[in-house]
Amino acid sequence: MAPRTADEIDQAAIEAGRLLFAGECRFVAGATDPSILPPVGLPEVAFAGRSNVGKSSLINALTGRKTLARTSNTPGRTQQINFFSLADRLILVDMPGYGYAKASRKEVKEWQGLATLYLRGRPSLRRVLLLIDARQGLKESDQQVMRQLDESAQSYQLVLTKADKLKPAALAALREKVAALAARHPAAHPVLVATSAVTGDGVSILRALLAALASPTPLR
Ligand code: GDP
Repeated sequence: MAPRTADEIDQAAIEAGRLLFAGECRFVAGATDPSILPPVGLPEVAFAGRSNVGKSSLINALTGRKTLARTSNTPGRTQQINFFSLADRLILVDMPGYGYAKASRKEVKEWQGLATLYLRGRPSLRRVLLLIDARQGLKESDQQVMRQLDESAQSYQLVLTKADKLKPAALAALREKVAALAARHPAAHPVLVATSAVTGDGVSILRALLAALASPTPLR
């Protein structure tokens, strides 16, 4: 049965995650326009979140590379969806960041322009990881994206980033609050993972969860 809490993830799943993420990870495509997305193939997992949430750092921590996400995120090309193939078994999709402070509504709208078509109509998209900065909690822009994903019945999972920035009691309180909110969203996955790219907390659990979505055999 699929795990409903991070504690239910067993050693075999952790090992499957470790093995998958030890594989080669290569850049396959960058799309600036939803109409030129790469062909549908391997299962895909998209990483989304507000600008500065720690998305590049988390992708780099998962894959054990220092510059994977950043190299293709050169300034001026932020409105780009980047596709990375992991061991030819899973595609990691780096979405553009959204929602900077005051311009959040407008920016979410712009973000939707590029992202909506991808997120709504992608048969190979198994899950969206919606990253939430533990210091900031869920913002209105995050909740707008959650509603959009609910409407399109696109499965997604909330992942806390920068967990090292909170004391254990504050982190536990945030987890409870965010999990309660997620439970009210039909398309949200029940497991909430708290991660830190600095300490590595939560990284092996997230790898295990993603390995469960990967193709069992490599496909080119
Ligand atoms: P992105 O814009 O979402 O790709 O965010 P980045 O990965 O570039 O990170 C934004 C900032 O947050 C950088 O200054 C990172 O060093 C910092 N950061 C990212 N992840 C963590 C983390 O887990 N812990 C801490 N303390 N800082 C982090």
